[in-house]
Amino acid sequence: MALPMRRIVKTKGFLMIRRKQLSCCEFQTSCKYFCRDMVRVRFAPSPTGYLHLGSLRTALFNYCLAKSKGGVSILRIEDTDQSRKIEGATEEIIKVLDWAGLTPDEGPVIGGPYGPYIQSERKQIYQDAVETLLQKGAAYLCFCTEKRLSLLRKEAYRRKEIPKYDNKCRNLTPDEIEEKKAQGIPWVVRLKVDNWNQSWNDVVYGHIAINHEEGDPVLLKADGYPTYHFANVVDDHHMKISHVLRGEEWQSSTPKHLVLYQAFGWDPPLFAHLPLILNANGTKLSKRQGDITVEYFKKKGYLPEVLLNYLTLTGGGFGTSSTTLQCYSLDQLIQKFDMKNVTAHSGRLDPQNLDILSRKYLLEKFETKEGQAELVQYTIQLVRDHYKTRLSSEENQELIFNEDHIRTLLKWALPERITRPEELLNEDFIFLWEVPDKSDISAFLEKTGVDNCAFLKLALDVVNTVELFEVDIIHSAITKKAKTAKISLKMLMPILRYVLSSTLEGPKVSEVMFALGKRQTVYRLQQALEVADSSAL
Ligand code: GLU
Repeated sequence: MALPMRRIVKTKGFLMIRRKQLSCCEFQTSCKYFCRDMVRVRFAPSPTGYLHLGSLRTALFNYCLAKSKGGVSILRIEDTDQSRKIEGATEEIIKVLDWAGLTPDEGPVIGGPYGPYIQSERKQIYQDAVETLLQKGAAYLCFCTEKRLSLLRKEAYRRKEIPKYDNKCRNLTPDEIEEKKAQGIPWVVRLKVDNWNQSWNDVVYGHIAINHEEGDPVLLKADGYPTYHFANVVDDHHMKISHVLRGEEWQSSTPKHLVLYQAFGWDPPLFAHLPLILNANGTKLSKRQGDITVEYFKKKGYLPEVLLNYLTLTGGGFGTSSTTLQCYSLDQLIQKFDMKNVTAHSGRLDPQNLDILSRKYLLEKFETKEGQAELVQYTIQLVRDHYKTRLSSEENQELIFNEDHIRTLLKWALPERITRPEELLNEDFIFLWEVPDKSDISAFLEKTGVDNCAFLKLALDVVNTVELFEVDIIHSAITKKAKTAKISLKMLMPILRYVLSSTLEGPKVSEVMFALGKRQTVYRLQQALEVADSSAL
């Protein structure tokens, strides 16, 4: 029986990737991981900047595969390209993984039996590995200068061919090598590759065959650092990696990795390339379309569970869907994860879904006692930190940071107004935290042309006597009282709105009052009354 898999023929310049239908038996072979003794996976980022969403997704898939199979997840920092290394990026990656709950079982901080887990600290291991290949005659020293290589490239372009190294140094005699070494000519080590025709059963993409012919690849650079591909393979072998789960963009490098495994005589791990993540409009997720770093979303207040669930909406594997949009805990995600359901087609990420997930998650959290207490404390801290220097009197702070009040406020805001507590810091909600300025109130009241004191007393009376401090009840009490006092609502409401929130726009007055809470509303009305009284004198 043939499994229903799409046939993909992808042409990327000179690169051909063919995907054929896998027979049931082939598919099972490609899914050997089900019967492997131990699942050992690694997330192997390069510390070249902030971690982005695509990398967090790779980390999540690796983590879930390990945890769902009782295996081990490893963090390995691939920093052999020293020129691209960014100071502090490794620490940042570690922090983000901890934040997301994806703390590895082995890695730079926790250590482990196959460390060190930072490649720049493993130079000796790569040098030994190179030595093994040199001894076997599978690799050789190359003394070609940058100038010669550049000439080769130019010549190839002139002939409209793909540039590749001509393997010239393969044929150096031992004497020639010694002589060049003695002359102090810098050298690199290259791998002899005679067969670039490689294929493998990708756990996600099925059978892939690539014939990507190139010159003998460099393993060790002149500065003694290994090349990315060499270090990657040596480490995956030494760290006993069973499955390599990484982004689809690494698929074209896999043949190079396979020839290395062959040269050493090692069994390769299973490869599972993860499909691309696209923007909502189908374009490639890139920084140009807005920030895609995890740090950005973290700062905006999206909680880790929310971001992880958002990422499960692309690539399959978890059975989550953008029609139901439910937020699962990391433990639940692990249970739901199944490699067999990872899809080979790219998936789109719609930011609207992130907000829906965030609101759902917070509302569910708010339903539980502990979750509610946590959110209240979180919000208090958030506002305190943000308004540090701008908050007015101690008395006002005591009113604002009252836990009951913040709880009521969240209950009001979460269902429709905000998708995360951070949004309470937005312009629209400044009125919640900043008491209107007395001189502004004075200037405003001077121009109303009505008996401000009477209006404000009426409102104070309602607020103090209303039996339940709820939006509709407040609204109808004000309406009723104004009617009895023959005060026009059209005149009254803007005055109340202004003295409560320093603006003439925003939610309806009874909502403003509700969001401020009874005590804060009374406080602000009284302040306005004092101002009105003193100008009436
Ligand atoms: N160091 C590579 C990266 O930063 C990872 C490649 C791999 O997982 O093999 O994406």
